[in-house]
Amino acid sequence: MKIKGTCKRDGREFLVEQVIAAGGECPWDGEPFEADYAVVLVDALRDAQDAGARLVSALERIADVRPAFELDGSTVLGPLRAQLEKLERNVVARG
Ligand SMILES: [Zn+2]
Repeated sequence: MKIKGTCKRDGREFLVEQVIAAGGECPWDGEPFEADYAVVLVDALRDAQDAGARLVSALERIADVRPAFELDGSTVLGPLRAQLEKLERNVVARG
């Protein structure tokens, strides 16, 4: 899964894999996206990308066997959307 983002400082788009490769820095301005939690950020970005790819692959396999049911898309996308909206509002609480 190729997750994209936009830097809040320079407004340029990047691929999450570029940020992972750069150790949590913006590939354009070279500044860390989060100075104090760079390792946490990079790990979470990697997990999001890997888990996203696994989720897509699992759904594809489910569809391939043509089961006698439908899945409620909102129960898959809803929790994802909720977290992305939280990120947009920038109100993620730090533990
Ligand atoms: Zn930037």
